[in-house]
Amino acid sequence: MQTNEINSYDVIIIGGGAAGLMCAHTAAARGRRVVVLDHANKIGKKILMSGGGRCNFTNLEVKPSHFLSANEHFCKSALSRYSSADFIELVAQHGIPYHEKTQGQLFCDNKAKDILNMLESLCQTYGVDILTECSISRIEKNTTFVCHTSCGIFQAESLVIATGGKSIPSLGASGFGYDIARQFNLTVTETDASLVPFILTSIEQQALLEQLAGISFLAEVSCNGVSFKDGFLFTHRGLSGPAILQISNYWQVGMAVKINLLPNQTLKTLFIQWRAQKLKQTLKNALVEFFPKRFLEVWLVSIAAFSRLNTDKTVLDYSNAEVDIVSQHFHQWTVTPAGTEGYRTAEVTRGGVNTDEISSKTFESKKQPGLYFIGEVLDVTGHLGGFNFQWAWASGYCAGEFV
Ligand SMILES: Cc1cc2nc3c(=O)[nH]c(=O)nc-3n(C[C@H](O)[C@H](O)[C@H](O)COP(=O)(O)OP(=O)(O)OC[C@H]3O[C@@H](n4cnc5c(N)ncnc54)[C@H](O)[C@@H]3O)c2cc1C
Repeated sequence: MQTNEINSYDVIIIGGGAAGLMCAHTAAARGRRVVVLDHANKIGKKILMSGGGRCNFTNLEVKPSHFLSANEHFCKSALSRYSSADFIELVAQHGIPYHEKTQGQLFCDNKAKDILNMLESLCQTYGVDILTECSISRIEKNTTFVCHTSCGIFQAESLVIATGGKSIPSLGASGFGYDIARQFNLTVTETDASLVPFILTSIEQQALLEQLAGISFLAEVSCNGVSFKDGFLFTHRGLSGPAILQISNYWQVGMAVKINLLPNQTLKTLFIQWRAQKLKQTLKNALVEFFPKRFLEVWLVSIAAFSRLNTDKTVLDYSNAEVDIVSQHFHQWTVTPAGTEGYRTAEVTRGGVNTDEISSKTFESKKQPGLYFIGEVLDVTGHLGGFNFQWAWASGYCAGEFV
C-alpha cells in the first residue's frame, strides 16, 4: 500500500467484522474495487469469539419481531431480501458442517473460524484488499471520501461504516461509527450495553449470590411487558443466562425484573397433588426434581427468614396462606438490578445510528450521499440466538448490492 500517495478504490469499508466482510465480497463480486480497513490486528474477532467458539451464525426463524429499533419497520426490507436461508445456503456451499442447537439457533459443528474463513475466501476470490492495524485519523468529503490512516490515504466514492457497537473493547470495539455519523450530521440514538448480565448489589442480594453462584435452571424472566423462558444463572455479581441476557435488551435503569423460578408448574397445583397423595416430605425433598438441592436449601432458608415461616415442615403442614407466600417467592421473585455488567461483557450495543436517516433499501445516509452504515452500528438490536449475525449478513449484503 502506498503511504505517500492516494490509494483509490470504488468502496472503502471501515470495519472488517461480520457486516463489513459480507458487504465487501458482495460489492467486489459486482466488479467494485473494495478495500476493508480495520484497526484491530485481526479481522472478524467477534465471529471467532461468538457462540462459545462455534458461532451461532443465524436462526431458522428470523422475524422483524426479533429486533429492537426506534423504527421497528427499518429491518424488514433487508431481512426479507437476504434471509437466513440465503446465509445457510452460502454456508452449505462452502461445505461448513452445522447443527441446530435449540430454538432454531444454528451453530458450526467445528469452529467459528469456518465462518470467518468462508468470508475471507470470498473476499479473496473477488479481489478485496483487507488492511489490519490500520487506524483512521480523519475522514473528509470532497468530491469523494478521503480517509487519512496509519496505512496511507484512501479515497472512494462510497464509504461504508461497519465498525459495530461498543461491546467488548478488547475485541476491537469502538464508538468510532457514532463519531463519523455525528461528523456528517446524522443523529445517534442513546446507546447502552445489551444482551448483558445484571448486577445485584444490596447486602441481602450479595449474601444470596455468595451461596447460589454457579447454579442454573430454567426460568421465565419478565420486564417492560416482555417475557423470556430460558436458562437462568446466578453469578457472583448478579444474574445471567440466556433468559437474563434476552430481557436486558428491554430493561432500563430502575426497572424491576420479575422472575418465575418454576415456570412449567404451579406450586398451588403441586400442593393440591401432594395433599391428595398425603405426601410426608419436606418442601425441599418434594421440589428436588425441579431444582438443584443447593438452591432449595438456600432459597427455603431465605423464604423462612423473609416471611417468618417454618419451611422445614412437611408439605401437608402448610396452610393455604403459607402456600401463597411460598408461591410468591418461587413464581414472582422481583428484583431491581443495580445495573448491568456493561460493555466489558455485553454481546451487543442497543441503540446506534438513527435508522430514520438511513435508506432501508441501500443503507445509504439520506443526508450524505455515498456514506453507508451497516451492522450493529445502526440502531437495530437482535435477540439472542443468531439474530445479530443475521442482521450483519443482511445489511452487509444489501448495502453491497448498491455501493
Ligand atoms: C462474545 C460475543 C459473542 C457473540 N455471539 C453471537 C452469536 O453467537 N450470534 C450472534 O448472532 N451474535 C453474536 N454476537 C453479536 C455479534 O458478534 C455482533 O452483533 C456482530 O459481530 C456485529 O457485526 P458488525 O460487523 O456490525 O460489527 P463487528 O463484528 O463488531 O465488527 C466491527 C469491526 O470494526 C472494527 N473497528 C471498530 N472500530 C474501528 C475503528 N475505529 N477503525 C477501524 N476499525 C474499527 C473492529 O475491529 C471490528 O473488526 C456476539 C457478540 C459477542 C461480543
